[in-house]
Amino acid sequence: MDSSSEPPDDPAGSLDSATTSAPTAAVRYRLCPRCARAVPTTSGERYCANDGTRLLDACPQCHAPITSPYARYCVRCGTDLKHPS
Ligand SMILES: [Zn+2]
Ligand SMILES: [Zn+2]
Repeated sequence: MDSSSEPPDDPAGSLDSATTSAPTAAVRYRLCPRCARAVPTTSGERYCANDGTRLLDACPQCHAPITSPYARYCVRCGTDLKHPS
C-alpha cells in the first residue's frame, strides 16, 4: 500500500482562505430601542422608519453585536436593549 501520495496539509493557508470567504458569516442587525424593530445592517438604515429613533448597532453597555432580529436583551450582559440606560 502506498500512502505517500497525500497532498501536503497547510493549515495556515486553508485557514486564511476560509476567513476571506466565510459562507456562514453572522448577520448583524440594528435594533430600534423604542419599538424593537430590527433591520439587517446590510440595509443601510440608521434610523427607525417607524419613529425616527436612532438604531442600535450594538449593545450600549458592552458593545456586543446584535446577531438576532428578535433580540430584546443583550446576550452577553443582559442589558435591556429597548430601554438603554
Ligand atoms: Zn422604532
Ligand atoms: Zn451587552
